[in-house]
Amino acid sequence: MGAIADALQACRERIESTCAEAGRGTGCARLIAVSKTFPAADIRAAHAAGQTAFGESYVQEAQEKLDALADLALEWHFIGPIQSNKTRPIASRFDWVHGIEREKIARRLAEQRPPELPPLNVCVQVNVSGEASKHGVAPEQAVALARAVAALPRLRARGFMAIPEATGDPARQRARFRLLAELLAEARRAGLDLDTLSMGMSDDLEAAILEGATMVRVGGAIFGARRYTTKEAET
Ligand SMILES: *Cc1c(COP(=O)(O)O)cnc(C)c1O
Repeated sequence: MGAIADALQACRERIESTCAEAGRGTGCARLIAVSKTFPAADIRAAHAAGQTAFGESYVQEAQEKLDALADLALEWHFIGPIQSNKTRPIASRFDWVHGIEREKIARRLAEQRPPELPPLNVCVQVNVSGEASKHGVAPEQAVALARAVAALPRLRARGFMAIPEATGDPARQRARFRLLAELLAEARRAGLDLDTLSMGMSDDLEAAILEGATMVRVGGAIFGARRYTTKEAET
């Protein structure tokens, strides 16, 4: 087996053993393979090893890969920050959007989602680390934004997403993820039909699954060290 297939297998084992530890059953968290900065050939290798859901963060780069991989049946998740002038390709080519932090962006995605496609699945991004992170709405605003998004046509509000500050302390990791899980419970009590907690990455997926993650977004642990950083991709 190749390096990517081996790494995927190791990642699946981490997920399954944590689902078992959490008492949540096999397959409790779906794996989104985060392929940003990695070439289409790496995605092909992961697909050959059974992976179908992939996450991308940069619109231009993602479009090139979607074109190069059009022969495969893949599920595409947009996980990066969204500028309002880049919503159209996201609305027309992705299956999921994880980083909704403004109603205006959700409204544009709703207007631009082609009617022949199924509704675009969306998650509201929540800043669970306070000042340490610049992206996401404050926890106090998360349920209201989810309600506004759920009312839009062509979108399907699915739940919440967070990228907590990096910390090696598992207790702190779990506290951040628990906050997101509590928001989902609150939204459901308020009558919103949400089912998704998108949380956990290469270094903290165990903590996320123990707190109820239904999707983990894993890049480095599958594809290796990224070739460039967010800042370089945006310039
Ligand atoms: C890059 C990225 C990931 C993957 O992070 P790793 O630490 O490489 O697993 C997950 N989520 C988002 C939103 C990202 O931008």
